[in-house]
Amino acid sequence: MGVYAVTGSASGMGLEVVEKLRAQGNTVIGVDIREADVVADLSTSTGRASAISAVLDACGGRLDGAVLAAGLGPSPGKDRLQMIAEVNYLGVVELLEGWQPALAAAESAKVVVFSSNSTTTVPAVPARTLKAYRDRDIEKVLKSIRIFGKSAPAIAYAGSKIAVSRWVRRTAVTANWAGRGIRLNAIAPGAILTPLLEEQLSTPAEAKAIRSFPVPIGGFGDAGQLADWVIFMLSDAASFLCGSVVFVDGGSDAYFRADDW
Ligand code: NAD
Repeated sequence: MGVYAVTGSASGMGLEVVEKLRAQGNTVIGVDIREADVVADLSTSTGRASAISAVLDACGGRLDGAVLAAGLGPSPGKDRLQMIAEVNYLGVVELLEGWQPALAAAESAKVVVFSSNSTTTVPAVPARTLKAYRDRDIEKVLKSIRIFGKSAPAIAYAGSKIAVSRWVRRTAVTANWAGRGIRLNAIAPGAILTPLLEEQLSTPAEAKAIRSFPVPIGGFGDAGQLADWVIFMLSDAASFLCGSVVFVDGGSDAYFRADDW
């Protein structure tokens, strides 16, 4: 049995992952802004630093795996754009860089990062937004998306998930990660019925857009099933999976790319 760190442990898919890992007999260190072993606000640099050190202390310097599920959806709200950028991007890359020595110590650790199918289904995320994410320049990210007005949260969100997916692919194959036995991968869900999606469905305009979005299989995904995918990606069966982004989205990504031939 192993020791795992899970962010976003208080709700939705992160909570489902925690329950399944604990049911297998693993030790889980949950990180969230509320109701967690480590309470930390990942939208601030001090919160991210305290999450890094508290988990390193709690795991005794060795982590068998990590799941990065904390995230904010593309709903409107005060300071929302900055929170999306900081939690969804910096809340993944800074934490994983901080935990890397503990993951390397386990020699065959596995990490799953929550991306999204918005990486391929939301058009028009500007290259300068992605460059700003890559440079970790949140001011520039916010400046680059201001022109999108009401659509800015969707662009900030898709940008954060494209950036985190690219970071996963770039980082996974390096000497400090694959070279230290760490399997770093991402999962890209479609619309999954969790509190994050429910928040979006509570706004009529957003609900209409979500319900008219093409999902070939139909309906919404189930949080417990997505957690089963994550558990599989943490298992020995996934030992040859490295730097992959696994889409579990009812067919939307395939639908939008059906003409790539
Ligand atoms: P959720 O809202 O149920 O859970 C997200 C968790 O993140 C919550 O427990 C919340 O407290 C935590 N969180 C938010 N802000 C935080 C902060 N500042 N500091 C610390 N923790 C914070 O959402 P979910 O749907 O389970 O989402 C999990 C992941 O999956 C997210 O990264 C999300 O972007 C991604 N995702 C979700 C969907 C979907 O349709 N639900 C689709 C694609 C990707």
